[in-house]
This record gives sequence, structure tokens and C-alpha cells, in this order.
Amino acid sequence: MKKKLLIYLFIIIFSTAFSIAIITNLYTTKAFNEILDNYEKLVLKKLEEKINIFYKILYLFEIDMKEISKNALMSISKEIGNKDINEITNEELKNLKKKYKIDDIYIINRDGIIVKTSDRIDLGFNIFSVGEEFKENLVKLFGSGKMFFERVDPSAQTGKFKFYAYYGIKNKDYLLETSINLKEYIEKRYSVNYEKYIINNFFNFKEEKSNYIVSLDIFYRSKRKIWSIINKGKYSFKSDDFFEILKSGKIIKIKKGDKIELWKRVMAGEGDFQWSTGKYLKAVFDFSPIYKYERKVIIFSIVSFIITFIIFYFIALIIIDKSFLQRLLIINERIKKIAKGDYQTKIKIKGNDELSEIAKSINKMAADIESAMNQLKDNTKILEKKVFERTKELEFKNHSLTKLSKKLEQMASTDFLTGLLNRRAILKKIQEEKIRFKRAKKPFVLILIDIDNFKNINDVYGHNVGDDVLKKFAQTLKASIREQDFVARWGGEEFLLFLPETNLKGGEILAEKIREIISTTDFPINKNIKIKITITAGVSAYNDIGKEEDEILKEIDIALYKGKREGKNIVVVFEGD
Ligand code: GH3
Ligand code: MG
Ligand code: MG
Repeated sequence: MKKKLLIYLFIIIFSTAFSIAIITNLYTTKAFNEILDNYEKLVLKKLEEKINIFYKILYLFEIDMKEISKNALMSISKEIGNKDINEITNEELKNLKKKYKIDDIYIINRDGIIVKTSDRIDLGFNIFSVGEEFKENLVKLFGSGKMFFERVDPSAQTGKFKFYAYYGIKNKDYLLETSINLKEYIEKRYSVNYEKYIINNFFNFKEEKSNYIVSLDIFYRSKRKIWSIINKGKYSFKSDDFFEILKSGKIIKIKKGDKIELWKRVMAGEGDFQWSTGKYLKAVFDFSPIYKYERKVIIFSIVSFIITFIIFYFIALIIIDKSFLQRLLIINERIKKIAKGDYQTKIKIKGNDELSEIAKSINKMAADIESAMNQLKDNTKILEKKVFERTKELEFKNHSLTKLSKKLEQMASTDFLTGLLNRRAILKKIQEEKIRFKRAKKPFVLILIDIDNFKNINDVYGHNVGDDVLKKFAQTLKASIREQDFVARWGGEEFLLFLPETNLKGGEILAEKIREIISTTDFPINKNIKIKITITAGVSAYNDIGKEEDEILKEIDIALYKGKREGKNIVVVFEGD
């Protein structure tokens, strides 16, 4: 139980601490990201502002460059005068450019192709390819006698910042174009340092770069190319879809490890006509120190939660162990002791809570059980005594009953007058001997004896004397036979001798011997008179398995009556029918 409790406790505290750690970490990450997001936006905003300022400054130059271009276009158109497009040479244009202090001169035909120019690179370039809107503006210009000025834009060919001006000379089939290089213009008009300040220093982002910014760039995108104005051509080309997303005003964020690349479109100078289709800011941040710090915070929070968990776990363990488990174990031990029969030891009751209530109840229960047990012991003693007495009584009664039963049994098998076996008892013995005969094949003999003329004794001396004669006769019979032989009073003055393991001859001899003994024995009638009596006996043996009990009884009866008929005082052996 203790183990289970510890596991549950561990799970509860661990999951709580773990959840808190996770929530804290999620919150920390979220907070960090929010801070960085805001920071990024701030940087982008600053850049945008800078570009806007740049465009405002440019606008001042543009007013002047517009005036220069206007004059140059007017003058050049007069110089080339009524010349046909084919008659104008590139050489001539080179001289004119120098004369009017402009960067380059271009002659554009109806198809938008630069057919003549002071700048060899641009020769043959299709200016209509820059964009549809741009093309429309130029087409309208042919032969109109009007001029069209573009805002400063990077050259679609070289990326150099230039101010372009177009003139559709009246009745002419071509456009005259001039360009002024911004860099050279500022250098010549102001100073080299000023140019450096405007173009380079302005966008060096020294201030911003100190704080996690790896690089900043501004891109101009025309239909054909992307120009970087800061890192000069060092850029990775992005797909049209990428710029489409930026056009909708969204910021694109690309995460590369701890570095973050942000892209945003800038609306500076928008609305004025330009070659470029858009200006884009790219800022690369390196937040590794911040992420490092964030990771430290996370590790710290995890470590602190592990420590908190361990501390809480052990404190909880101690509290539970002291206030609950130990006491519970004591109660458990106590209950075990009670179960073994020790009711004496008491639980020391501490505190005043459910456990102490249980302890109290157990103490009371033990005391109750003890007194109940003592009561039971006393009752048992009384009961044991009673049982002992009752057992004695029963034993005594049982003994008397046995005695009585023996007596009754004896009585049931004994003839009342003579004390010999009665008819029933001797028949039982014969029955047993018959069974033995079947096993051992030992013959036995039955002798039926009848006192001759006994009626006379009764008649002469009275019935009581007759009884006495019968008693004496019985004693004499008993004394005449072997120990294993039985003698019974068969009825009246008839007696039956049963001689086990005796053959017919042996039986005849014994009958004869008894007849002799009786005939010579004196039977006293009173003090003065003694009489002699005689007997007649019928003898038969049992030596045949098939012979029935009734048969042998009949046989001795037959033999006896044969003796009576032959004159009494004789032994007759049954010799068949
Ligand atoms: P027999 O020689 O033919 O046997 O003549 P008996 O007189 O002995 O035979 P009987 O059957 O005529 O008479 C038997 C007598 O035995 C009749 C009866 O009164 C007497 N007797 C039978 N049982 C008892 C007894 O228990 N006590 C006394 N005193 N007499 C008995
Ligand atoms: Mg008789
Ligand atoms: Mg008789």
C-alpha cells in the first residue's frame, strides 16, 4: 500500500510540476516572440520612414533634373532638327550629351526599340518590355510635342539611379529620351561627399545594425530584374508569387535557425510613374543572443521545477509518512496482535483525527473482546464441569444398563427354574454350530432326555418337590458334561444336550453315561426320603450338510419315544426312519 501511495504521489506532484514547467515555457516563448515581433516591426517602420525621407529629398533633386532635362530635350531636338531617324548617328548623340551635360541620349522607334543612343549598352533594348502602363504612356507621346518625366529609378539595365525624360517631337516618328545619373548629378552639382551621404551613408543603418540586425536591404523590382540599392546586386531571386504576397501588404518571415529574414513592400514614391514595379525591404535579424537567453530561461525553469518537485515530493512524503502511514502501520500491527489473541497492548492515541478515532475504537474493541473472551472462558469452565458430571452420571447409568441388559439377556436365554439354557438359547447355539460345520466339517450330537414317570413324583410328593427334583437333575446333568457342551431345559421334564465336535458314537457313550449317573443318583424328597429316577434319551448326530435343524430335532424325538415305547430307562440312537 505504501508503495502504491508513493507512486500516486509521485505522479501527481510530477505531472503538476511538469505542467507548470510546460506552461511557463510556452508563456516564456510566447512573450519572447511577441517582444521580437514588435522589435521587428519597429525596425521595418524605421526603414520605411527612411525611404520616405529619401524620396522626399529625391523630389527636390528631381525638380532641378526635370528643368535640366526639359532644356536638354528642347535643344537636342533642335540640333537633330529635321533629320530622319536613320540619319542620326550614335557619335552625334555622344557629342550632344557632353554638350548638354546629361548622362545619355536615346532615340526610340515606334516599336519601343532604342535604335540610337550615346550609351552602347542600351542599344536595341525594347523599352516597352518594362511594363504595360509605361508602354501606354510612351505610345501616347509619339508626335504629340509633349514631354514625360519619370521619377528617379534604377536603370532596368544597370540598376544605376537615373532620372529619365521623354519627348515626342511633333510630326516625328520617334521619341527622344534623356537620362541624368543621380550620382553624377549630385557630385557635380554639390559635392562627392554629399552624394556619398545621400546614397551610401543614408542607408548604412549603422544605428539599427547594432541591435541584432545582420543586414538590411532595399530592392527595386522591375518586370525584368530586381536591384539591390544597398548591397548592389547581392540578392537571392524570389518567385513572382513571393512578391505577389508582399504586394498585398503582408510581411513575409523566413526563419533560418536563430536568424530571421523579413520582407516587406514599401509604398514610398508610389503613384508616381516609375519603371520599377515596387520597392521591397529586406531585414535579416540574428536573435541568437536572445534565443540563447530564452533557452537559459527555459532550462532554468525546468531545473527549478525539478528541484521544486523533489522538495515537494519529499516534504509530502514526510508529512504523509508521519501523519498517516506510520500511524496506519501501528494500527495494522495492533490488529494483527488482536487477531493472535493479544488484547493487552494499547495503541498510543495521537492527534484528534479520523485515525485517532480508529485507534480509539480498536482499543475499545480489544478490551471488549478480552472481557467477552474471559466471560467465555468462565462459561466454558462451568460447562466443562457440567459436561464432566453429566458424563459420569451417564457412564454410571450406562454401566447399570449394561449390567441390566446382560442380566436380561441371561434371563432371556436361561430357564428360570433350573438355571440352564432355555429352548431359544440352545437353538441359537445349534444354529451357530451348523454354520461352523459347513466350514470345519465337525459333526455334533443332540441328545433329548426325558425323565421317566415324572408325573408320579408330582402326584405323590407335590409340585414343589417336583421342582426340587428338576433342579437337582439339572445340576447333575451339568456336572456330567464337558465344558464345551451345552445343556438346556427343553420343556417340562425334558432336557436337550448339545455336544459340539462329537460324533454319534461319542454321543451315545455320553448318553449312556448320563443315564447311568442319573439312575444311581439320590434325589432327596425330605430329610428321610430319597428317591431314584431314570431317564430315557434319544440320540442323533449332525454330520450331513443337507440335514435341516428340524430334522435332527425330529430324529431325537423319534428316538426318545422309541425308548419310551421300549420300556424307558434306555438310550436310543436314531437309526433312520
Ligand atoms: P413317561 O415316563 O411316559 O414320561 O411318564 P411321565 O409321567 O413322566 O410323563 P407325562 O407326560 O405323563 O407327565 C409329565 C409330568 O411332568 C406332568 C407334569 O405335571 C410334570 N411336570 C412338567 N413340568 C413340571 C415342573 O416344572 N414341575 C413339576 N413339579 N412338575 C412338572
Ligand atoms: Mg415328558
Ligand atoms: Mg417323562
